[in-house]
Amino acid sequence: MNIVYTDNNATTKVAPEVLKEMMPYFSELYGNPSSMHSFGGNVGRKLQEARERVAEIINAEPEEIIFTSCGTESDNAAIMAAIELKPDKKHIITSAVEHPAIKNLCSYLEKKEYSITYVPVDREGRLDTELLYSTIESKADDTAIISLMWANNETGVVFPVAEVANKASEKGILFHTDAVQTVGKIPIDVKSAGIDMLSLSGHKIHAPKGVGVLYVKKEIKFPPFLKGGHQEKGRRGGTENIASIIGLGKASELAKAHLNEMDTRIRGLRDYLETELLARIPSSSVNGDRKNRLPNTLSIGFDAVEGESILLLMDQAGICASSGSACTSGSLDPSHVLIAMKVPFESAHGTIRFSLSIYNTKEEMTHIIETMPPIIKRLRDISPFWKQ
Ligand code: PLP
Repeated sequence: MNIVYTDNNATTKVAPEVLKEMMPYFSELYGNPSSMHSFGGNVGRKLQEARERVAEIINAEPEEIIFTSCGTESDNAAIMAAIELKPDKKHIITSAVEHPAIKNLCSYLEKKEYSITYVPVDREGRLDTELLYSTIESKADDTAIISLMWANNETGVVFPVAEVANKASEKGILFHTDAVQTVGKIPIDVKSAGIDMLSLSGHKIHAPKGVGVLYVKKEIKFPPFLKGGHQEKGRRGGTENIASIIGLGKASELAKAHLNEMDTRIRGLRDYLETELLARIPSSSVNGDRKNRLPNTLSIGFDAVEGESILLLMDQAGICASSGSACTSGSLDPSHVLIAMKVPFESAHGTIRFSLSIYNTKEEMTHIIETMPPIIKRLRDISPFWKQ
């Protein structure tokens, strides 16, 4: 059975072009880029090429790119740098719907000496900018950093980061954005958006798992998160994950070239899937602002059924997606994102996230559209909550 993979916000397949470019660096080209000899130096040049390619997709300078081990490390390093740079400031502003990479670090810091403002979202997942801006006004003197995701991993809702970055800069507050889900899906320009720090992750854009980037504006004197060797200009110790970094460089180049296709063909496939599922399955609804979403993401709730059961039946039909409940934490509660959006319990519980990549096809969408209605019907027939 062929797999229909629509879980690309969880992870993506490594692009064949990426793997091809990585392969020699596992075998014959194994030099250390920090070595004095030319065997290592050649690897150093390839590392620099990767830095340039990654910089290009977000319109940064190559020297503003720090390679890390993942998006989580980048997120953690950004916040920890800010609180080290601003030791007198004990307040952090973030949103109520961040990825655990930010959310759990903030909860940890809350147990220390920090207060955190978690800016709420409305029923559509849109940020409460009024509350955000009044918090910036009233707490500017004590705020070390504002960290806001550029787009949400579950709903795809895009936050107005350029506008917030601008307000932050007026008040002299550092601004970080978690763009792990955004890079490669919509254009990003750190310069015009006025971003101080930005996180991205390789495995969301068809590079391997275990490599990420923290962009840090060159004016910021960045204190290293990993203290060690002089790698990454002393901003992150540790011998570089060369093959994966080279893969990320190639993946960035491909992602940039595919942005137009994301906005047209993939958006079209997502809309086709969405329209047909809503039409064919009664009591189904989309989570998140449909006018301001990533082009590849669809979060859709089916009333009175349970996400994990839907996923199991989808799995039997060869379809990979995610649910909107936090089953990995051992509970079947809806995710903190759907709770923050006040999505009704019966719909949040039955929420499925489809996330597409440029490898998806219309035939695959048609397969999902034909497979889902009988699955939902079967589960509703045995659901005590289904009343129609
Ligand atoms: N931030 C967001 C918005 C994400 O979706 C993810 C991964 O799903 C991360 C951060 C963490 O990235 P990584 O898996 O590379 O640590």
